[in-house]
Amino acid sequence: MSLLPKFAQVLVVGGGPAGTTAATLLAREGFDVTLLEREIFPRYHIGESLLPSSLQVLDLLGVREKVEAYGFQCKPGAHYIWGDERWDVNFSDLLGNYTHSFQVRRDEFDKLLLDHAKSQGVKVFEGIEVNSLSFDGDRPQSATWSQRVEGNSTGELSFDFLIDATGRSGLMATNYLKNREYHQIFQNVAIWGYWKNATRLGNGREGAIVVNSTEDGWLWGIPLHDGTMSVGLVIHKKTFKEKRSTSLENIYLEGIAKSSKLKELLEPGELVSKVQVEQDYSYTADRFAGSGYLLAGDAACFLDPLLSTGVHLATFSGLLAAASLASVLRNEIKEDQAMSFYERNYKQAYLRLMVMVSAFYDQNKKKESYFWQAQQLTTSNYGDGEKLQQMFVNLTSGMEDMLNVEDKPDRIFRDVSDRLKEHWDLRHKQFSNTLKEEEQDQMVASNEFFSTFNGIFSLSKEAAIDGFYLVTTPQIGLAHANS
Ligand SMILES: Cc1cc2nc3c(=O)[nH]c(=O)nc-3n(C[C@H](O)[C@H](O)[C@H](O)COP(=O)(O)OP(=O)(O)OC[C@H]3O[C@@H](n4cnc5c(N)ncnc54)[C@H](O)[C@@H]3O)c2cc1C
Repeated sequence: MSLLPKFAQVLVVGGGPAGTTAATLLAREGFDVTLLEREIFPRYHIGESLLPSSLQVLDLLGVREKVEAYGFQCKPGAHYIWGDERWDVNFSDLLGNYTHSFQVRRDEFDKLLLDHAKSQGVKVFEGIEVNSLSFDGDRPQSATWSQRVEGNSTGELSFDFLIDATGRSGLMATNYLKNREYHQIFQNVAIWGYWKNATRLGNGREGAIVVNSTEDGWLWGIPLHDGTMSVGLVIHKKTFKEKRSTSLENIYLEGIAKSSKLKELLEPGELVSKVQVEQDYSYTADRFAGSGYLLAGDAACFLDPLLSTGVHLATFSGLLAAASLASVLRNEIKEDQAMSFYERNYKQAYLRLMVMVSAFYDQNKKKESYFWQAQQLTTSNYGDGEKLQQMFVNLTSGMEDMLNVEDKPDRIFRDVSDRLKEHWDLRHKQFSNTLKEEEQDQMVASNEFFSTFNGIFSLSKEAAIDGFYLVTTPQIGLAHANS
């Protein structure tokens, strides 16, 4: 291992998609970036189904060609069997150069991005874990690290800025800020494994993700380029506990047996991996940024994987983090303005998808109502059914986050999050006929709130948050709307 530096202008901890995106973009702007990753890549990771929005970020990273040429399974969209409805989401409906995506083995995809980061000037050190941080007041200023593999070196590295991209382990949020909250509305458990010889969808849609609801929850089927299919079952924690007297594999296989489409696709298949499990996985940190630091990707927040949004949010926040810091380091903007820009944009993108996912969990709805919900979450003024479907594709592909929509800076995350929970509880009561008379008015008000809830994300000059918007040319950074 070559010697770790004692100082970095920017220290990125974590080499997943969030960390490599932020580090590569900053290195390409000429900044001094060190990235520490505790594993040696390739390393296993769940989260294989990507959205087209990530291609846009891959373009900015200069790695799109390598990804396109790698041989990952091309993903034309999604096939939903949801409640009584069935429909296809086609990324070919999107505009521009982002009309597909990929299903990736994350060990291979993440290694490709990490190797690319090295090639772009990021000082990458694998097998190095950050064990603790020291602070000057609230501001992190140095990290102590230890080598986990092929040696036992230790050391300290100081920095001007920290990007915490440590994923679910959340270095800052769980050890120092202690500000991570788990969402009450998505108390789910995911159980997954890999299958050989599963049948794939026909008619040119063999690369699509299959999303299949059941009476207990839902399943994903993600066809991968090595011929296997990643198949996961998501059920509520309560249901999981009720079934826990039997083995994990039994719960998993029973869940598949209750599905319609996935059961059929897996009929000739064989489970070729051990079954893995993850729970309590939807959360947000109270703050995403502060003096000298930003939390990117899962280190800040995580949303139930129903719409495959994780890597999108990771690369998107990596882009926002790089742009925000680049402008600070070039003295174009004050640090607190950049941190506020970052936090609001990332929270708002997250929140919008969270509203969309929670609408989905209400399986009693018709597909048109999901399209309608998508339209409510954007500002574009579409009318007929076909165009509403287009809005849905835009939103659930992550592309809307990359586009220009109206800003509502007064919409505070926590407030909306609380209202979302309230709304969800009321809807449950309504569907189970347990809504009390005195709750009727509350239900009406809640419906009104969500029907007027409008576009919230801004990257554009017209809709700049705090007067700032993101620019990617001629260099990555923030610009002021009045300049
Ligand atoms: C059940 C399930 C299904 C999912 N399905 C999908 C899907 O289909 N599509 C999708 O887009 N997303 C999906 N996701 C989400 C996706 O896995 C994550 O959102 C995504 O990996 C986040 O990227 P990241 O870079 O923030 O974190 P990670 O990819 O987790 O990277 C963090 C890195 O930090 C390193 N690290 C941690 N702590 C330290 C430390 N102290 N020092 C040094 N290094 C450290 C880790 O080793 C790791 O490599 C799913 C998640 C779950 C739980």
